[in-house]
Amino acid sequence: MIHTTSEKLFDRAVQVIPGGVNSPVRAFASVGGKPVFITKASGSRMWDVDGNEYIDYVGSWGPMILGHAYQPILDALRTVMTDGTSFGAATEREVEMAELIRSIMPSIEMVRMVNSGTEATMSAIRLARAYTKRNKILKFDGCYHGHADSFLIKAGSGAATFGVPDSPGVTASVAEHTLTAEFNNIESVRAQVQQHPHEIASIIVEPVVGNMGCIPPKNNFLNDLRTLCDAENIVLIFDEVMTGFRVALGGAQERFNIKPDLTTLGKIIGGGLPVGAYGGKKEIMKMIAPSGPVYQAGTLSGNPLAMAAGMAQLKILKTDSSVYEKLEQSGSLLEKEIGQFIAQKKYSVTINRVGSMMTLFFTSQPIRNADDARTCNTKLFGEFFQSMLNEGIYLPPSQFEAAFISSAHSSKDLEKTVKAVQKSLSKVFEM
Ligand SMILES: *Cc1c(COP(=O)(O)O)cnc(C)c1O
Repeated sequence: MIHTTSEKLFDRAVQVIPGGVNSPVRAFASVGGKPVFITKASGSRMWDVDGNEYIDYVGSWGPMILGHAYQPILDALRTVMTDGTSFGAATEREVEMAELIRSIMPSIEMVRMVNSGTEATMSAIRLARAYTKRNKILKFDGCYHGHADSFLIKAGSGAATFGVPDSPGVTASVAEHTLTAEFNNIESVRAQVQQHPHEIASIIVEPVVGNMGCIPPKNNFLNDLRTLCDAENIVLIFDEVMTGFRVALGGAQERFNIKPDLTTLGKIIGGGLPVGAYGGKKEIMKMIAPSGPVYQAGTLSGNPLAMAAGMAQLKILKTDSSVYEKLEQSGSLLEKEIGQFIAQKKYSVTINRVGSMMTLFFTSQPIRNADDARTCNTKLFGEFFQSMLNEGIYLPPSQFEAAFISSAHSSKDLEKTVKAVQKSLSKVFEM
């Protein structure tokens, strides 16, 4: 495959954009080489500036669950934009969107629209702190909740008392209020709760982790979190920015039948436009300005184009149950065919999958948490990624991300993908 135009664009980009990209993982930093520049996408396919075609398993990092350039979403955008692109005033569409979200996720009694997942999580913990009059939050090692200061905290080893900032610019005084525990290990959570009695405002979790690769919750983990939060008056936040409308229509909370106090949403909810939302119990949500004292605002929040695209997508997901059946079938087919090949060849690869989220971890051990994920051979993954790209399959350019299947992936796409995986794994392991 030839990438000369992409390479030239990247050389220009690094002169004027930090690292050449507007979000770090796009830069191929962890897999080597320069990123490809995309010109257009349709269904399961994307094309780069050199004319190469890819079957896409990034799906804009989650939003494109129905495939790219989906006609009903484009139609909704066309219709709405002729009336103007933003008013900064109340619109009927925002009420419809809130009602639609509530009908899909019953734990959300009230909801506030924002413009990204980061804004949603950042606002949700401010609200949880105000509601509980407590300062600390607890997150899990390896979970990603956007780039707000409070979440950029590396896990200390074991039961570390104070967080260590993951990024320069995050002050120690912010970091000290973020506690960390191990995903799928309720004892590590109990230990933190005991060490900080009546200090923890909120526990925030990706109920199915996507941001260290796909990691499902163990049998009772989410239930145990719910019980612990109830006993300690801690606000339980499910960060469903990725899993919402993905692992089931009603997200992980529907799939595992657990009601969080607050939920954060993003990605699919915007149909490819920049949207986020946070919502939950009325008693908590009504503390937000202007009905309450907790300030949170947004010039473009509830934007007409964003609401139209998001609602068009959510309405299809709500009314056409065949979408989730197809996603499950496609995911299961990939897992089975690739899994059989790996077992037969005895390659050190572990597959995790929940519905249409899936990761091939380059290690032979089970992946239950961040420490497990860190055992992966990221160099091998990088070589695998490059080989797949060359075969025309666009995977997330990092070992620690989930691949997303859309309902636009055809059985031919899946067949081609399995063949490319077999070829690439053989190449990587037998070189
Ligand atoms: C993507 C993501 C975010 C951040 O959303 P942005 O829209 O990128 O700010 C937060 N939480 C989770 C679980 C995510 O996957």
